[in-house]
Amino acid sequence: MSDIVEADAVVVGAGPVGLFQVFELGLLEIKAHVIDTLPYPGGQCIELYPDKPIYDIPAVPVCTGRELTDNLMKQIAPFGATFHLGQEVTVVRKEESGAGGRFYVETAKGTRFLTKTIFIAGGMGSFQPRLLRLDGLDAHIDSQAFYRVRNPAQFAGRDLVIVGGGDSALDWTLNFAQDGPNRAGSITLVHRRDGFSAAPASVAKMKDLVAAGRMNFLIGQPTGIEEADGRLAALQVTTPEGEVRSLPLEMLLVFFGLSPKLGPIADWGLGIDRKQLTVDTEKFETTVPGIFAVGDVNTYPGKKKLILSGFHEAALAAFGAAAYVFPEKRIHLQYTTTSVKLHKVLGVETPTFD
Ligand code: FAD
Repeated sequence: MSDIVEADAVVVGAGPVGLFQVFELGLLEIKAHVIDTLPYPGGQCIELYPDKPIYDIPAVPVCTGRELTDNLMKQIAPFGATFHLGQEVTVVRKEESGAGGRFYVETAKGTRFLTKTIFIAGGMGSFQPRLLRLDGLDAHIDSQAFYRVRNPAQFAGRDLVIVGGGDSALDWTLNFAQDGPNRAGSITLVHRRDGFSAAPASVAKMKDLVAAGRMNFLIGQPTGIEEADGRLAALQVTTPEGEVRSLPLEMLLVFFGLSPKLGPIADWGLGIDRKQLTVDTEKFETTVPGIFAVGDVNTYPGKKKLILSGFHEAALAAFGAAAYVFPEKRIHLQYTTTSVKLHKVLGVETPTFD
């Protein structure tokens, strides 16, 4: 177990709203620790639509999910938040004695915090890969069967079977099929039909590679596995004609997309209405004082699940939290345009006007 981290604020979720929460806390001189299950920031914007254009961010006529995330990361850089990525927050509880009424937070990787305030920006919950359910497959997960590529080099030179028809399946297929250090020994892509949800350009490239004999493509449903000496040896695929084909492999990659699950957030004793956390609209505080909920994870009368709503909520939640972090201090609203104090925390020069 790691040493316990003492914090003023812990933000659960590094989606756009969690990131902007860091900014609003930073303006009030509250430093944040940010935790996300995903190994990178951006939440839905990166996981579900990195290259799609967003048109309703105020004063940004158009930007993609990735551009929004990159810009938010730039915007919050002055505040030096500490990121703890690739780990789900599993435990949140109030410490009654000896810890000054703070909250204990723990992640699945064993990182532990004692914090004065918590901001749950968990969106629709943790993204978990949709699973391929075949008898016996679970025993091979993370040794020969994978739902994510963390280290591409581990697949170099191997006989791969890749299952799926979306962008991840096609992107990794092309990545491992092209010449370079990570080129696979052989690749067979399996998809249940000849239509793909991936970018058409990727599908065209894949078909060119098949035509050039550089990889195989099979239409069918995975229906079983074959083992040899305790190792995964082949994937059985049933074709639309009902024929069962056996595809020998060293590694299996499954990309069925990610589905969000509210998960542990539901167990933290907070008021919940239809899988969302109930909050007030003054501070976006949950039913537990000191724990705030912002963005898609919360609900209140009139709630709209939009990024701009989450940004507004983050601003008011930060002011709400300041009362816990600095109980002695009166907090005044200041403008980033004119406040010398805010220029200092942002690390920018105060402009001089004639
Ligand atoms: P999310 O983006 O969902 O991020 C939540 C993060 O919390 C995730 O990264 C998750 O892994 C993490 N998390 C959850 N539980 C835990 C836990 N226990 N421990 C650690 N981490 C956890 N909105 C607009 O305003 N304009 C648009 O044009 C627009 N287009 C969209 C297009 C699509 C296809 C989709 C799916 C959504 C779109 N949205 C749009 C909605 C917008 O993406 C969401 O409102 C926004 O992402 C919510 O941000 P968030 O930070 O609250 O949550």
